[in-house]
Parts: sequence; C-alpha cells; structure tokens
Amino acid sequence: MTESLRVLIAGNWKMNGLRASLPEFEAMLAGAAALAARVDLLVCPPATLVAAMAEKARGSRIAIGAQDCHVQVSGAHTGDISAEMLVDAGAGFIIVGHSERRADHGESDARVRQKAQAVWRAGARAIVCVGETQAQRDAGQTLDILRAQLSLSLPDESSADNLVVAYEPVWAIGTGLTPTPKDVEQIHGFIRDLVVARWPAEGKRMRILYGGSVKPSNAAELMAVANVNGALVGGASLKAADFLGICAACAWQSGFAQVLMFCVSALWRLGAGVSQGWRGGYGVGNPRIDRVTPRHLRQDR
Ligand code: PEP
Repeated sequence: MTESLRVLIAGNWKMNGLRASLPEFEAMLAGAAALAARVDLLVCPPATLVAAMAEKARGSRIAIGAQDCHVQVSGAHTGDISAEMLVDAGAGFIIVGHSERRADHGESDARVRQKAQAVWRAGARAIVCVGETQAQRDAGQTLDILRAQLSLSLPDESSADNLVVAYEPVWAIGTGLTPTPKDVEQIHGFIRDLVVARWPAEGKRMRILYGGSVKPSNAAELMAVANVNGALVGGASLKAADFLGICAACAWQSGFAQVLMFCVSALWRLGAGVSQGWRGGYGVGNPRIDRVTPRHLRQDR
C-alpha cells in the first residue's frame, strides 16, 4: 500500500507579474488561511517579486519559490541569478528543468541535475520537471523519454525531503488539454516505480506532482489518481480565485483519500488479523503486498 503523502500545490507564475500583482497575491494569502492544513501551498513568482512576496507571506500558509537558478554561487554570469540569491530573497523551493527552460534555453538533463544540486547547496528544495512533447507522445516514446530524463536529471543525492518531481506533458502546458486520469495513473505509477527502484526507501515518500492545464474544474479528478501528490499550476495560479479553487479541491480530495485509506487499512488489518487467527498464530502469511517489479525497470540505470 502506498503511503499517503502531503499534497503540494505549487503555482508557477512564469514571466508574469509586476508589483501591481501584489494585491492579487494578498488575496491568495487571505484565502489560503481558511484552507485545510493538510495541503502545502507554494507560489513561484518571477525573481523580481520573490523578496516582496516572501515578505508578505511570512508566517502564512503559502511558501515562496523561484523558477530557475544558475549552477554557480556567484561570478561573471551577467543577467543570471544563483540559488543562493533566491534563497536570500526568501525562496524555499526552486523549479528546475521546466520544459520552457529546456526548450528556450537548451537546458540538458545534465544541466538540470547540476541546477538541482545548486538548489540544495543553497539550502532550498528542488522541483525537477520532466515531460514528453506531443511528437514524442505520438511516436510512442513517452516512457523512454521520462526514463531518460529522470535517470539523468535527478542527482544521486535526491531524497523525499530535498526533491519534488513534476510530471508535465509538454503538450498539456497552457493548451487546456490534459491526459486522461488513466494515462496519468500509468505515468505516475511508472515514475514511482523508477524512483523506488533507485531510492528504495526515499522513493516511496517523494512527491510526484502533475502539471499541465490544471484548473479548479479538473483538479479534484487529477488529485484522486494514485501517485499524484499535488499539482504544478501555471496559468491558473495567477488569479487568487482559480488558485484557491484548485487548492480547495485538492484539500477536499486529499481529506477524502485519507479517510478512505484509513477505512481500507482498518478493514485490511481486520482481515489480516482474522486470517492470522484462523491460521492459528503469528508468523503465518506476510500481510505486506510486494510490488511486482515491472519490465520497464530493467533498462533503468
Ligand atoms: C506549467 O507551465 O508549469 C504549467 C503547468 O502551465 P499551465 O498550468 O498553464 O498548463
């Protein structure tokens, strides 16, 4: 049985937002105070707003993150910003490897891995994005692409505490299209298997977010899928009403899931106890259900 992980809803403002956007953020802070405490909330504004928003968010339910960083601490890199600078400004998470950075700036998996390590060096948590393009999907290469991206972009030192994985199909970003819940389940299960194969204990606790056209109207359905531990939200994170609507849907969904898991686990324990009693004692039958190692893992690393 997979653990119930805390849900993380992360907003990615991309290259949007001026100081004039701060009242919208204040509306998010006000609305977030009423949300169930079991959901973690994060907003990643452009670098120019990190300090101002971190100041406003101090002591609130919303953490502040950033969208990218340079791999070096400091130096002759005109126009770049280091992870240390972002953390100094108030960022607790930094997104790396977003498909827009991979496409617009030619960022390789190796560079993404270095950036994740830079994030940790600075003391923040990395959100590493992976996802296939439409052409790769059409060619049936989705799992191969994800396997390669995850294998090469995630550093060996990854743990459940320093890393969040975001699965973002490129064709779903900003298009209004989303994969079916069945597709999401298959792909998140695939990602879970890969991280568990590489980090047997930590991999079970790593959060895997879904990203790509998440809205208040589809958030609960997506969050109900196994191994979806939150969302990375672009366009819909710019408006307080939409972002809070998504957060509320996810909070409700995760609360429902927790109650369901409690009931299933209670029933299962009862069943195991009855079965043990029936078999006449301890040590008979292992109640742990082992995962079958899928074939796709054989090629990994
Ligand atoms: C994103 O770019 O991270 C994203 C998920 O965008 P959108 O929600 O707008 O599809």
